[in-house]
Amino acid sequence: MVVQPKVRGFICTTAHPVGCEAAVKRQIEFVKSKGKIDGAKKVLVIGSSMGYGLASRISAAFGCGAATVGVMFDKPASGNKTATSGWYNTMAFEKFAAAEGLYAKTVNGDAYSDEIKKEVIDIIKNDLGKVDLVVYSLAAPRRTVGDVVYKSVLKTTGEPYTNKTIDLRSSEITEITLEPATEEEIEATVKVMGGEDWEAWINALKDADVLDENALTVAYSYIGPKLTHPMYFNGSIGRAKAHLLATSKKISENGVRAYVSVNKALVTQSSSAIPIVPLYISILYKVMKEKGSHEGCIEQMQRLFGKLYGGELELDADGQIRMDDWEMEEYVQAKVSEIWDALNAENFRQLTDLDGYWKDFYELFGFGVDGVDYDADVEV
Ligand code: NAD
Repeated sequence: MVVQPKVRGFICTTAHPVGCEAAVKRQIEFVKSKGKIDGAKKVLVIGSSMGYGLASRISAAFGCGAATVGVMFDKPASGNKTATSGWYNTMAFEKFAAAEGLYAKTVNGDAYSDEIKKEVIDIIKNDLGKVDLVVYSLAAPRRTVGDVVYKSVLKTTGEPYTNKTIDLRSSEITEITLEPATEEEIEATVKVMGGEDWEAWINALKDADVLDENALTVAYSYIGPKLTHPMYFNGSIGRAKAHLLATSKKISENGVRAYVSVNKALVTQSSSAIPIVPLYISILYKVMKEKGSHEGCIEQMQRLFGKLYGGELELDADGQIRMDDWEMEEYVQAKVSEIWDALNAENFRQLTDLDGYWKDFYELFGFGVDGVDYDADVEV
């Protein structure tokens, strides 16, 4: 069938198999063009089908030549409904990995559950023996523990916060007020996006003796500029990220080197759901592209792997890896604030890279990728 994008707010309900494959191929080619990294050999990526997790898996496989096991939560096609983009990305990844003789297996299911942890451990035991790197890159709206469903919220933790935002439905600048989260909502957000499940994974892998003695583990975080602090860094999600950082210390104390990498703000399925952030990203893209320092997920992760396996690892005062170094440069942030303050309904198309935002958004679902014939019939 001919597959067209169907966008509803910040989500696209269709995905293009050929477009996803072409986008994955481009990421692989980028990593290969940067040369080999002498690093991880057997890697588990939790949250491997999109965004930073997919880029980590590609960097591990095609940069380090690693065997990879991925965990994702995606849907195959059914009837005339396409699969999710993460599903197509993973099919494509596995195909390209096989073509180069690289081991790749993926488990589709709830990474928070004990069953999936067990399934993954069995695969590692049978096929790889042990893993030497565990990437934790889950971004999920909810987590089920027994009978309880915890839902993460994107709210402030103190006062309500009002600022400009972009309405992704109409591409118009509007204003939004974010209400403070209740204590219960903050706790739920920490349950979903904090470090508890990361630690549970590491403990389960250790107990099953499938972690190499020199294994590393890394999880991803975000800090961002002051203007997003009320709803991110100091918001409910920020509390979860603080928990993630505290967990990295705990895991390290228990004998597995654990890091948090603070990554750049980028268009992914998860970040498009956060209020204010898409508008910030479209200004950031404008400034960083003009400066020549813009990166996407794959550029970020290829650079991260270079740092992880490049000798002495530079950390900030809190012990975090700062992949947001170029985003947070003084010049970049001064320019972003200047534009933010000047922005209004009339001038925002000139002052932001909204086209770049949308291009990346569509590409997440395999649309608008160069060289793909979108009028052609495709097998979904
Ligand atoms: P994403 O939405 O692109 O990918 C999330 C991945 O998690 C997908 O592979 C999905 O299948 C998987 N997943 C979700 N729920 C799952 C479940 N229950 N079981 C198994 N797999 C599940 O997300 P992303 O933006 O790449 O975010 C990954 C991490 O990077 C998050 O911790 C996020 O906070 C962090 N981060 C993101 C940004 C950004 O701007 N996007 C910036 C810095 C840090």
